[in-house]
Amino acid sequence: MVLHKGKISEIIEETPHIKLFKVTLENGVFDYKPGQFAMLSLDNVKTETGILVKRSYSIASSPTNKEYLEFCVSIKKDGKLSPQLEKLKHGDSMNLDGPYGRFNLKDPLHEGTIVFIAGGAGIAPLLSMIRTLLVQHNDIKILLLYGFRNPEDCSYKDELLEYSKKYKNFNMYRTVSSKEVPEWWEEDTGRVTAILNKYIKPKEIECVYICGNPDMVRDTIDILKAAGISEAKIYNEQW
Ligand SMILES: Cc1cc2nc3c(=O)[nH]c(=O)nc-3n(C[C@H](O)[C@H](O)[C@H](O)COP(=O)(O)OP(=O)(O)OC[C@H]3O[C@@H](n4cnc5c(N)ncnc54)[C@H](O)[C@@H]3O)c2cc1C
Repeated sequence: MVLHKGKISEIIEETPHIKLFKVTLENGVFDYKPGQFAMLSLDNVKTETGILVKRSYSIASSPTNKEYLEFCVSIKKDGKLSPQLEKLKHGDSMNLDGPYGRFNLKDPLHEGTIVFIAGGAGIAPLLSMIRTLLVQHNDIKILLLYGFRNPEDCSYKDELLEYSKKYKNFNMYRTVSSKEVPEWWEEDTGRVTAILNKYIKPKEIECVYICGNPDMVRDTIDILKAAGISEAKIYNEQW
């Protein structure tokens, strides 16, 4: 894969633990499909043997956006790369290679609802797909079920709420899993797995895309299969 150099054009502190990075390429073209990921690295972050530390990050932007690539990075305090990404500033450089991955938007059939199920930063590849669908197929029904711990952990809140208002074909249900939910929260509570049967109508769905941690993905698939959704309609990525 081609190694690209990117420059950070914008950094957004999206939630207490998540930063969004908009990156413009300094060389070449990064031709990706919605849902794919890039390997990111920084010249000054190397292993003890001097090899670049590389980590995978889903591309949250849509390929219809030619201006920049967007990454939604959850900062792992003791991690090797993400705390170094957190220190980056506007104008700093990073290395990107890719695109990689087969978790990407299949050509929609226009027959049924496309369901997206996200846990935390797992919204990133799904958002790339949703952004693309809303630009290219405004007649396809989209259902997003999105779980996170506390209300302030909802990445892309403003954009997603705007989509709910603007597009009749886009519906979103959010749930918070913290045991201490603030009184003002009026949406669902509990893990995202607890709201699947409430909102998904198995007979109406075309396919399901899931992204989250391995436990969330496994439990979600089990529930969907028990509800009669064939495994062939379920695509997932876990990290
Ligand atoms: C396809 C794919 C797409 C991804 N997309 C995204 C994305 O869009 N956004 C995102 O935030 N992440 C994404 N990830 C996860 C990402 O690649 C990194 O794994 C994550 O950011 C952590 O990297 P790190 O270098 O900071 O932490 P690492 O150094 O890899 O450490 C990860 C965790 O393990 C712990 N740890 C490290 N070493 C040890 C040890 N020896 N013993 C015990 N614990 C240890 C650390 O404390 C840390 O919490 C994706 C992963 C995959 C595979």
